[in-house]
Amino acid sequence: MLSKGQTWPVLDHGYVKYINSMGDDEEIVEAARMSTGRGFVSWEPYKRCETCDLVDGPLWMASLPECDDSAGHKWKNFPRGDVGFMEYLYSHKHMTPFEMPDLIIEFKAPIMVIWEWVRHRTMSFNIESGRYTQLANEHYLPSKDRFKKQSTTNKQDSSIELFDPDTAALFIEALAREQEQNYETYEDMVAGGVAKELARLNAPMARYSRGRVKANLRNWLAFLLLRKQTKHSNPQWEIAQYADVIGEIIKSLYPRTYELFEEYTLYAETFSRSEMRALRILLKKVGVNPEKGSLTMDDPEFTARTIASLMAKLKG
Ligand SMILES: Cc1cc2nc3c(=O)[nH]c(=O)nc-3n(C[C@H](O)[C@H](O)[C@H](O)COP(=O)(O)OP(=O)(O)OC[C@H]3O[C@@H](n4cnc5c(N)ncnc54)[C@H](O)[C@@H]3O)c2cc1C
Ligand SMILES: [Zn+2]
Repeated sequence: MLSKGQTWPVLDHGYVKYINSMGDDEEIVEAARMSTGRGFVSWEPYKRCETCDLVDGPLWMASLPECDDSAGHKWKNFPRGDVGFMEYLYSHKHMTPFEMPDLIIEFKAPIMVIWEWVRHRTMSFNIESGRYTQLANEHYLPSKDRFKKQSTTNKQDSSIELFDPDTAALFIEALAREQEQNYETYEDMVAGGVAKELARLNAPMARYSRGRVKANLRNWLAFLLLRKQTKHSNPQWEIAQYADVIGEIIKSLYPRTYELFEEYTLYAETFSRSEMRALRILLKKVGVNPEKGSLTMDDPEFTARTIASLMAKLKG
């Protein structure tokens, strides 16, 4: 359970603080069921009569009321409770129910990270104003094992190659010295009566600032997809540290949604039309013809549903 105000340290002086949230996994199902007026039932198995709408389970009634229909109840089974329905929504991209929950986070982060964060236009921000307040003397100083060389293959990226510890120490010391001098100039200007909105002109990207950000769950998931380090995205390491903490918060608040996010988005792959053609040809070459249903998998690791959905995708 999260408690309001719970705070996680990030980088050397930053943090992520849980402020507030709205909704849960059940409310997502409830919102989606507005179309039928049936609401959330249970995460446990249950069955519903298609004639009289009676629901039985998960506490299973000892004696059932009679059905409106003299032929008796016509049961439809929900063996995974509403988990199955939620998975259907997510996997078929019915995403508006996932816009119902909201999450507010407070952060303290280097301006460099904030600058990347505010590009997520669907989030609502309130950020400390350097016009009104004097920014604190806090600057991000990367550790030696973060002090990597510029990648030669990706212009945006740092490589995996580190400097030798002595060179790294020299660079880090120079950076620290500069941050100190820089802040002195800033303080002198503020003390000398220069308007804060102008005195801040020398603020480096490393200076810490604070803010609050609110987004709905769908947009938080979009943020995580772009800002967590995965096969799909290669964000700057620093913002990924914030995304990792927020991912854990979301997992704790909306565990079932987070599981679907991991299953269908974060660790999933999509194939282009040409890639699908190539895949089908490849499968035929190794003697598997999905058109003829010759692909079978007995691996107990996969459910029949996963195999059926895979087969449907592989067929032309
Ligand atoms: C690894 C990485 C590198 C990046 N490098 C750069 C860079 O070099 N330069 C740079 O400028 N940015 C860069 N960005 C920022 C990037 O271009 C996006 O601005 C940022 O990731 C926010 O994504 P978004 O637009 O999907 O999010 P949001 O702004 O939150 O939007 C969410 C979704 O809403 C919809 N949407 C929002 N606004 C509009 C609109 N006006 N029109 C249509 N649909 C809209 C889109 O579907 C969008 O995906 C980088 C991002 C990443 C993750
Ligand atoms: Zn009935």
